[in-house]
Amino acid sequence: MKSTSMKQEKMPSDISESNLPLPSSGQNCCCDDDECCSAALQHEPLTGGLSGAVSAMLEGIGEDPQREGLLKTPERVARSLRFLTRGYSENPEELLKNAVFTEAYDEMVVVRDIDLFSMCEHHLLPFFGKAHIAYIPDGKIVGLSKIARVVEVYARRLQVQERLTQQIRDALQNVLNPKGVGVVIEAKHLCMVMRGVEKLNSITTTSAMSGQFISSQSTRSEFLRLIRP
Ligand SMILES: [Zn+2]
Repeated sequence: MKSTSMKQEKMPSDISESNLPLPSSGQNCCCDDDECCSAALQHEPLTGGLSGAVSAMLEGIGEDPQREGLLKTPERVARSLRFLTRGYSENPEELLKNAVFTEAYDEMVVVRDIDLFSMCEHHLLPFFGKAHIAYIPDGKIVGLSKIARVVEVYARRLQVQERLTQQIRDALQNVLNPKGVGVVIEAKHLCMVMRGVEKLNSITTTSAMSGQFISSQSTRSEFLRLIRP
């Protein structure tokens, strides 16, 4: 799997910077992502219950939530969690409906290598990778960026990769009623990499198909050929 365009390079750099002095402005957040922290800070101050739970979790693992380095951690983690699960507040089918156009094009449309970042609902650890999506229009097409947005909205919830794959297929099928939809997701799960079996390079692939992608071997083969790295 190509990983050059993935965005989580921040994780190692955060670790290597952990010995640097904190900025004096008080904006000693875990990341420089305005959308992640500033926006969440302004619009979602109600992280009390969540940050209290994080504080309890810190105690649960034997930490002292009152020591300097952890003082703001519960609030920071609460904001980060809200960001990582913001997909609950959006409706993917509504999002698609707003960008549907009538068009006679009836060949396969493929969007491949859509980056995705999600969280496994069993361990609350990230999984991340690529989604490849195809559909064959039947009179209606959808704005291509909306396909990536649908992936994003479903991924920003607690997930299992299998359900995520099917939800994306179903949203496209329900809104566009196309001749078929194909979805393939390839992802790495940190719950496999960092704990338990510690399989560093394992990649999980899931697929969900409908219509001609199921009934026609040649359609399915064409899709799989087009998304081959
Ligand atoms: Zn897991």
